[in-house]
Amino acid sequence: MTTTSETRFEPGFLEALRDRVPVSEVVGQSVRLIKKGREFQGLCPFHGEKTPSFYVNDEKGFYHCFGCGAHGDHFKFLMETQSLGFVEAVQTVAALAGLDPARREAKLLPPPDNAAKLAKAAEEKRAAIEKARGMWGRTRPAPGTPVETYLRQGRGIDLSVIGGVPVTLRYTELDYWDTPKGSDKPVNYGRFPCMVGAMQIAPGKAGICGVHVTYLRPDGRGKAEIFCKATGEALPSKKMQGQHRHASVRFAQAGPVLALAEGIETSLSCRVAGGQGFGPGALPIWAAGSLDNLAGFALPGAKGAPHPEKPRKFLRAQAPDPDRPGVALPDCVQTVILCEDGDSGDRALATSIYDLACVRWAAEGRRVLRARPRDGKDFNDMLRAAQ
Ligand code: ZN
Repeated sequence: MTTTSETRFEPGFLEALRDRVPVSEVVGQSVRLIKKGREFQGLCPFHGEKTPSFYVNDEKGFYHCFGCGAHGDHFKFLMETQSLGFVEAVQTVAALAGLDPARREAKLLPPPDNAAKLAKAAEEKRAAIEKARGMWGRTRPAPGTPVETYLRQGRGIDLSVIGGVPVTLRYTELDYWDTPKGSDKPVNYGRFPCMVGAMQIAPGKAGICGVHVTYLRPDGRGKAEIFCKATGEALPSKKMQGQHRHASVRFAQAGPVLALAEGIETSLSCRVAGGQGFGPGALPIWAAGSLDNLAGFALPGAKGAPHPEKPRKFLRAQAPDPDRPGVALPDCVQTVILCEDGDSGDRALATSIYDLACVRWAAEGRRVLRARPRDGKDFNDMLRAAQ
């Protein structure tokens, strides 16, 4: 019904309305909303409740009720709360936007602020991807470089089992820059050998969209240890550039079975262990680069279980947000093997993030297997212990 009705309007007109009028303005005419971070919260008009479980998100342009599941945009809200037809709902929103839907000039209007913001964000993303590609273009093959020393000697990974250093890992030297908290002046910590991983999204599409950089010690036998000149705290030895969301560093082509891990070292350890006879052969595996990118995010406003050790903190909710997935998996993947790290600082939180990933993949109709090393270890520890 909606589809045929939408054809009554010029293409782009409904989008222009959604961009111009915050959905909270439409909902706020009949529901009392309170601002909560980037969202609004209120009592759900679709089911009786005393504590609010109804959220409105202007950035995404929809409302969602965690109590009864009511979900929709500007037009659906008006149709379902005011018994309007679709055309009337559009006319109502158009009036809020100061437009007349009977006229056919929506696409000639100056782009609203929101569109300008989106265009700016898209431009920044494009520039970041270009920069990451430029960085990848300046790397060189890893064999014989500190990258190989790091993997073989620093991490005990027998690369001969998997045909040498994967082509998605290369070598370069980079300056390490960090801007201390409360300052806007970046500090240079010197130049380091680096392992650079290619981050890719769409299988089959050439090109990379980001890089995963690991700063190494000058002799390559470990990760660089860099301490903040202002506070003395350890700075991260890994950084990602360009687009990393949905992307992954790939060590094999995806097939019906694909393993996923957070880090490059864990991924290679699992792959080598498989090839060494602990498993059915070198495991096809991808590294997500971060836990959040492995699992994606939970629905906005969804609350996880209370943290068992930290008062007033919550674990990751087990409600995957379809709009914010993690690593993009191709359709051919029927079974996902999740290779967990057992040495994360916050085990309870990390486990809840792994759980969310499994809920998401299962909801996509995939079989999920989980592999978790014992006793605060990771798969690289296990690989080295087994040698
Ligand atoms: Zn509700």
